[in-house]
Amino acid sequence: MIRIPEPLYQAMVEHARREVPLECCGILSGREKTVEKAFELQNAEKSPVRYSISPLDQLRVFEEIEKESEEMIAIYHSHTHTIPFPSETDVRMAFYPDVPTIIISLKEEKAPLVKAFRIGKEAIYLEEIEVIS
Ligand SMILES: [Zn+2]
Repeated sequence: MIRIPEPLYQAMVEHARREVPLECCGILSGREKTVEKAFELQNAEKSPVRYSISPLDQLRVFEEIEKESEEMIAIYHSHTHTIPFPSETDVRMAFYPDVPTIIISLKEEKAPLVKAFRIGKEAIYLEEIEVIS
């Protein structure tokens, strides 16, 4: 279960819309599964079908999270034309199996779908998202 405050949830969807046609990506941090901060990052791949976060960006965000004594709660990215389910690339590139991956699908332009998963080597688990006010 991940709890995301409504404004941060909306900001994440807006970020996804702003980056179209590219996939967006970012990191959510906070405490006890509750998101307190969103880091909007550059998609180092500059691609409409995949994403990566540059090592420099990752380091910068990890340092800031540590400084605030927070933890990484999720990594998010968008799917501009496909459903919110991990792609083969997402599975191959899932380096943090304990950190949920959030996917924002813009397939239905007017009704974006946001889903979270834990992507393991053997299975993909759905993780519940609760939007809090
Ligand atoms: Zn993906």
